[in-house]
Amino acid sequence: MYLRVVSRRMSSQAKYLIDDPKYGFLKELGLDKVNLGVYNGRWKANGKVVESVCPANGQVIAAVQEGNLTDYEDTVKACQGSWQQWVELPAPKRGEIVRQIGDALREKLVPLGKLVSLEMGKILPEGIGEVQEYVDICDYAVGLSRMFSGSIIPSERPGHVLLEQWNPLGVVGVISAFNFPIAVYGWNSAIAMVCGDTVLWKGAPTTPLVSVATTKVVSEVLEKNHIPGAVCSLVCGGSDIGEAMATDTRLPLLSFTGSTAVGQKVGVKVQERFGKPLLELGGNNAIIVAEDANLDMVAQSVVFACCGTAGQRCTTTRRLIMHHKVYDAILPRLIKAYEKVLTRIGDPLDENTLYGPLHSEDSVKRYRETVDNAVKAGGKVEFGGKVLDRPGYFVEPTIISGLPHDADVVHTETFAPIVYVLRASSVEEAIAWNNEVKQGLSSSIFTQDIGNLFKWIGPKGSDCGIVNVNIPTSGAEIGGAFGGEKHTGGGRESGSDSWKQYMRRSTITINHGKTLPLAQGIKFE
Ligand code: NAD
Repeated sequence: MYLRVVSRRMSSQAKYLIDDPKYGFLKELGLDKVNLGVYNGRWKANGKVVESVCPANGQVIAAVQEGNLTDYEDTVKACQGSWQQWVELPAPKRGEIVRQIGDALREKLVPLGKLVSLEMGKILPEGIGEVQEYVDICDYAVGLSRMFSGSIIPSERPGHVLLEQWNPLGVVGVISAFNFPIAVYGWNSAIAMVCGDTVLWKGAPTTPLVSVATTKVVSEVLEKNHIPGAVCSLVCGGSDIGEAMATDTRLPLLSFTGSTAVGQKVGVKVQERFGKPLLELGGNNAIIVAEDANLDMVAQSVVFACCGTAGQRCTTTRRLIMHHKVYDAILPRLIKAYEKVLTRIGDPLDENTLYGPLHSEDSVKRYRETVDNAVKAGGKVEFGGKVLDRPGYFVEPTIISGLPHDADVVHTETFAPIVYVLRASSVEEAIAWNNEVKQGLSSSIFTQDIGNLFKWIGPKGSDCGIVNVNIPTSGAEIGGAFGGEKHTGGGRESGSDSWKQYMRRSTITINHGKTLPLAQGIKFE
C-alpha cells in the first residue's frame, strides 16, 4: 500500500493539489491541507499524518491525521453513548434524518463526485454515480423506516400470541475498501441508521479525504437536528484500527468490504467473539456468451464490464467464456472496442475520459506480475499488457487468451483490467467453469434461448449472488440484495431484506390466558 507518512508541520508547509484553484471543490467540501481524521461528535486525531495521493498524476492532494487506538477507544464509547438517544427516536423520525442526509448529499453531489474521482481515480460520471448511489439508498432507507415489520405467527396454544419483532443491534462497525470509498459506507449506514443502530466507520487508508468530506456532510445534518454527531462516527486509519474493530465486543455487527484474504481473517475474529460478520469480499466474475447471443449487446457490455473503473470493481468481468461457435466473431470486435478505449485514457476529471488510472503503485505492480504470470503459464496477450509511460498509475486494458479455464492465474482475482477469454463447447460446460472458482459474486449470460436462461437461473445454474441475463456483471441496482457466495463471504447489503442483517430478531410468545399449556402438548404436572 502506498501511503506516505509525514509530520503535521511538513504537510502544512508542503505544496498540495488543494492549493491549486483548479481543485476549488476541495475547499467547498470543507477540506484543509491537513485534516483531522476522527469524528465522534467533535473532530480530533492523534495518529500519524498521511498524504493522500492522486492516482492520475502521483501528486499529493492533501493530508489527513489518522486516529490512534486511544482515539478509537474514545470514539467507540461516544458512539455507544449516542445509541441511547438514537434508539429512542421512532424509526420514521430516524428516516427523516436520513432523508435530510440524502438532501445534503444531493447539494454536494458534484464536488463529492469530483473528490471520489480525484482520490480514487474513477472517471467523473462514476464518481458522481457513487454519490448518487448513496442518495438513492437514503431514499430507500426513508421508505424502509416506515415499512420494516415483524410478523404475527399462529400459535398452537390457546390464549397465546406468537410474534416476531426486529430490534436494533447497537453500534455497527463498517470497514470499507478503496474502490467504492463512499457508496459502500452509504449502503451500510443509511440502512443501519433507520434500523436504530449507530455507525462507526473506517474507510480505506488511501481514500481518507472522501471519508472526512462525507462525514462532514453527515455530521452537519446530525448537529443541525441536535442529534449527537457520534451516531455516525469516523476513525481514519489502517489495519490497527480494523483489527481493533474486529475484536471489539462492543460492535455486535462488523460489516467488512475488501479482499477475501483480509475478510477471512476479520470474519474469524468477529466469529470468535460471537459477533456477526457481514462480509463483502472478492469476486472472479464471468460473462458467458451462448451461441445464440446478440453479439452487439455482448461487445458493448463486455467493454463496460472489463474496462469500467479500470477493472477495479468487485463485479468487474475477469473471465469471458464464449461458445466456440461465436468466439472468433467476438474477439476481433472486442479488440477494436479496446482500441477505442485506449484513445480515451486520461484524467478522470476530464469529461472526455472513459478510462482512468489504477488506484496505486501497488495495483500497478500486481497488474504487471499477473500479466507476466499469465504469459509464463502459456497465455497470449491479445490486447494491452503494458504499463503506460505517463505520470500516474495508468495501465493498458488487457485481454489474454490461450489459458486453460482452471489455470491458477485465471482462478485468482487481480484487481486490474485483465480479462481471460475462454472457449467453451457448450453452455453446460460454461456454467461449470463459471462455478468452479472459489469466489461467487457476479455472473452473466448472454442468450436469447429460454432453455439456457432457466438453466442459468435454476438450481444447477450460476452459484453466484448476482445472476444476470443479457447485461454485464457490474452495475447493480440498489433495490436488490447485493453480495456473493463462497469466498465472497455470503453477506448481503443494500436492498431487499438486507436490513435484517442490521437487526436482531426477537421471537415473542405472549400468554394472555389463565392456563399454562406447553408446546407440543407436553404434560409436566
Ligand atoms: P483490502 O482487503 O486490502 O482492504 C479493505 C479494508 O480492510 C481497508 O479499509 C483496510 O484498511 C482494511 N484492513 C486491512 N487489514 C485489515 C485487518 N487486518 N483487519 C481489519 N481491517 C483491515 O481491500 P482493498 O484493496 O481496499 O479493496 C479491493 C478488494 O475489495 C477486492 O478484493 C474487491 O473485490 C473487494 N470488494 C468487494 C466488494 C463486494 O461488495 N463484494 C466491494 C468492493 C470491493
